[in-house]
Amino acid sequence: MFRRTAIVACLLGTVGAGTTETVRDPSACAGTCARPIAYSLDPRFRGDERVLIREAMSVWELGTGGRVCFAPGGRDLVIEKLERSDELQPWDPEEWPHHVALTKSGRIWIVAPRVEDRGEYRALIVHELGHHLGIGHIEDTADTYMHSTINDTPAELSIHPRLPPRDARAYCEVHGCTCQL
Ligand SMILES: [Zn+2]
Repeated sequence: MFRRTAIVACLLGTVGAGTTETVRDPSACAGTCARPIAYSLDPRFRGDERVLIREAMSVWELGTGGRVCFAPGGRDLVIEKLERSDELQPWDPEEWPHHVALTKSGRIWIVAPRVEDRGEYRALIVHELGHHLGIGHIEDTADTYMHSTINDTPAELSIHPRLPPRDARAYCEVHGCTCQL
């Protein structure tokens, strides 16, 4: 909600400076990051996990044409590492036994031991970042990070990370995508 308000404010400020086109697909034109998402990582994440988290953030940054950007050192988004699923219980009283991660009110929890594969770990972070960006589950295509079940993520997306067109369009549906003036 804040992000959309910020974009509208920006447009009002540039009336007369040019025309603004709204696009459904972020790759249609260059965009700008209205406001970085300032994030903090749990100190318990290892170096290799931090690399994967950073790569997952890049998937959204590149895939939205720069409309999303992350900056370290703030509390817009706090990513925490859990050792056991039952640590999710306070935030997820019903479904926690089935979950390997959860995103809620500016926080992402990752149950690290339940994710063995590096590519799957990165895909999981891409998925949870999608939720943080306000995107729900997507089941109308195979080519998405946003399936409700992590095992349904195509292996190719785990090996070669890139934001699928469907996920990029979902971002524009939620936030609106405009072209850089
Ligand atoms: Zn999900």
